Amino acid sequence: MSFKTMRIMEVCGTHTMSIFRHGLRSALPKNIKLISGPGCPVCVTSQGEIDLAIKVSEKEGVIIATYGDMVRVPGSNGSLADRRAQGAEVEVVLSAAQCLDLAKDNPDRTVVFLAVGFETTAPATAATVIQAKRDGIDNLSVLCFHKRVPPALELLASTPNCAIDGLLLPGHVAVILGHEPFRFLPEGHGIPSVIAGFSAGEILSALMELLRQIKAKSPALESRYASVVRPDGNRTAMALMDQVFEHTTSNWRGLGPIDGSGLKLSEDYRSMDCLARFDLKAEEAPEPDGCICGRILSGQKEPGDCPLFGRRCTPVTPVGPCMVSGEGTCSAWYRYGRKGEL
Ligand code: SF4
Repeated sequence: MSFKTMRIMEVCGTHTMSIFRHGLRSALPKNIKLISGPGCPVCVTSQGEIDLAIKVSEKEGVIIATYGDMVRVPGSNGSLADRRAQGAEVEVVLSAAQCLDLAKDNPDRTVVFLAVGFETTAPATAATVIQAKRDGIDNLSVLCFHKRVPPALELLASTPNCAIDGLLLPGHVAVILGHEPFRFLPEGHGIPSVIAGFSAGEILSALMELLRQIKAKSPALESRYASVVRPDGNRTAMALMDQVFEHTTSNWRGLGPIDGSGLKLSEDYRSMDCLARFDLKAEEAPEPDGCICGRILSGQKEPGDCPLFGRRCTPVTPVGPCMVSGEGTCSAWYRYGRKGEL
């Protein structure tokens, strides 16, 4: 007897890693196919945005600060790590708040925080911006590439012939946003949707609920991460974002420009906007030759479909961001499995 294949997308890169780490793919029946989505913040930062960060690092007197994986993502002409080897000042920070100290310690330099990530990291950027303004720190700028998850899911769900039977929704983002921003998925698009935690048990519990909904043909929004996610989210974090950011169009690797999916500094904080300070704007740039990260991030392909996987592209010699990031799908495939065995 053959069963219909069910394609379930895990939106979040942390879910991807946890699924691989616990060997859940190989433990599931063959007709349940887990596909990775656009939930790795490093991976969805577009090639044009990476190129722009590198251009900023070339400015006189600039110290560029960002999270670890961003430094190694290849742009069209090398990475920030390459720029650092050539003499640029590139600092790895563990939090946005560290940029305040960097700026205070270097009053004659401009510190540019390359801010990436979803609703999970954006509140920390917002708090840092507010603190900098309050403290009169005027040598800190933000190159703001934060992205919002719901508009990207709306795009995926609206794609004609959308082949997603269920969504494992990102627990971390739901901690901030709560339930409501995801309700359009089952109610507007008929896609079973479950907010999931990150342990093996929490993921399996969420998958069970998705399969129940699929079998019953009754799509709904459920949470299997209730110990952490409140239905109304984290109001303090949302208020910080509302105070500092406006929604804007953002360009996603693999999905292209999406209206309202990005965050930019609002008028009150525009003096800290790196693009305004240096009169720059992001331009689109093609993905590296042969790299199919974009199609992996939209669930159309898997790393095993990429001819460079494990050959020219490895964690030591990454060609695209999905191999760089600790949450990247190619990196997970390389670390926990081999082509053809997953
Ligand atoms: S294996 Fe490398 S080149 Fe291929 S899609 Fe992944 S990151 Fe891009």
